[in-house]
Amino acid sequence: MTMNRPRAVHLPKLRADNAELLCPSCGGEFLRQKQAQVFARSEDATAGVRVTFGDSGFAVDSGMGGNPSPRQDGISISLECDQCGAMSELTVSQHKGQTLIEHKASAGPATIYFV
Ligand SMILES: [Zn+2]
Repeated sequence: MTMNRPRAVHLPKLRADNAELLCPSCGGEFLRQKQAQVFARSEDATAGVRVTFGDSGFAVDSGMGGNPSPRQDGISISLECDQCGAMSELTVSQHKGQTLIEHKASAGPATIYFV
């Protein structure tokens, strides 16, 4: 049986001396947090609580779209590079009881209508 296990930790652009994230597109070290989402749900539930924070407000709903964890809780932070303008995403997800951290290029945060 083949296990479809993601990498335990994938932070290829993290500098060891001061732990700052680097842009996955250009290596720039100035990444601004644009939006954050926190997802909470019972395991395998199709709905739960999603809280989205941005610089103009927040939103709370039951959607699981954008959750980095396919079956459990997750956290996602959208970042914009000051140098090249590329978007990236820092995520914390759950997989079979393990906590996984990943930073990767992304298309940017979903459009959220804040309260
Ligand atoms: Zn960049």
